[in-house]
This record gives sequence, structure tokens and C-alpha cells, in this order.
Amino acid sequence: MSYSWSKERADLLAAVKAMSARGLVTGTAGNASARLRRAGEPDLYLVTPAAMAYDAMTESDLVVVDGDVEPVGGEGIPSSESLLHLAIYHARPDLQAVVHTHSVFATVAAVTGRAIPPIVDELVLYVGGAVEVAQYAPPSSQALADAAVKALGDRRAVLLRHHGLCAGAGSPHEALEVCSLVERIAQIYFYSSMAGAADTLPDDVIESEQAIYRMRADLTD
Ligand code: 13P
Repeated sequence: MSYSWSKERADLLAAVKAMSARGLVTGTAGNASARLRRAGEPDLYLVTPAAMAYDAMTESDLVVVDGDVEPVGGEGIPSSESLLHLAIYHARPDLQAVVHTHSVFATVAAVTGRAIPPIVDELVLYVGGAVEVAQYAPPSSQALADAAVKALGDRRAVLLRHHGLCAGAGSPHEALEVCSLVERIAQIYFYSSMAGAADTLPDDVIESEQAIYRMRADLTD
């Protein structure tokens, strides 16, 4: 069976153009991907090309790769962070798309090495709790992919130390929304810390909101 993945290409391209328009990255920074499911065959992955301006990017520039990041039936160089994306898909069957940004306040948290704690309800309901910081590893490395998966846990976003933010969700649009939400909450955390108090929600509230998150995300044990 041959696949053209036209809807998946349109959805991923729309998400990365919006990522760029929202200022979550500058230049060619950042990348995104989507899982491509095939009946009875291993998943493939649609990945943004390496080092290409989002304005100029078209659906045919998106690269289909297999589980070893080998391009399938086409040309193009997949994102240099493909190992990071694939590691997340392997660890988290519930996630169908991954978006990686370098937005300013999330990266401030990633530079300071301080996780973004559950200070507002939305973070727990839509991301699953604190956004933890992965141990530093160089860009594009398997070590970065492994560290990110470890710090991601069962949540939907993780900070990459001295680098940026990575989020996963059910679709490219949803993963982009998680990136925007985390960026906004990173700003709130920064300003509330400066204002003298960035208290977390009460434990019992976090617990009940995490139960709602897990139910919605189909993460029930
Ligand atoms: P790519 O252009 O290879 O996707 O890399 C951009 C980036 O942000 C690396 O972290």
C-alpha cells in the first residue's frame, strides 16, 4: 500500500508556520514531527527538514523517515533533532506529534535549570504537572534524546538544559499549543518569582487535576 500522507503534511506544515509566526523560534531554529501510522507495519515519522526557513517550507520539503531516521522514498535531510523526536515516540505511544521550540522564557528556565512548577491549574490539566529540566547533553545527540525522555516522564513537555523546550501531544497543532502554553506559564513563573512568591497549587488540587489530565490523555494505568 502506498501512502501520500497529504493531510499529515498539511497539518505539520501549518503548525511549524504558526510556530514561527508566534515567535517561538527565530530563523531556522526549532523543528517538529508527526507519527505516521500504517496498518500492520512499523510506524514512520514525518519530520521537518534541517536548517530550512519556515516561510519557504512547503509540504514536499517535509521528510518521511523510518525508525532509524533513514529517509523513506524521497530526498531531503531530516531535522538534526530527529533522534530526540523518535526517542519520544518510542517511549510514549500516546503522543502523535512533537514540537521543539527555543522560546525565550522557557529557555530562561532551561538555562537556570529550574523546573517550571505547577503554579497554575492549566499546567497540570494540559501538561500533566511540572515541566522538568533534562540533564544537559549536546544538540542532536542520543544522550539528549535519552535525557529528554527521562525528564518528560508521563507529561507533555520537557525543558532541554541550555537549549529550549520540547512538547508532545495528539497532533502537531496540539503540540504547538502546549509549547505556547508552557512559554506563557514560564513568563508567569519568572514574573511571579520576581514579585516575591511563586507558590505551587495545593497538593490535593495537583493530584485531582493530574487525574483529569491522565484520563483525557488516555494515560490511565
Ligand atoms: P534543525 O534545523 O536541524 O531542525 O535544527 C534546528 C534546531 O533548533 C536544533 O535544536
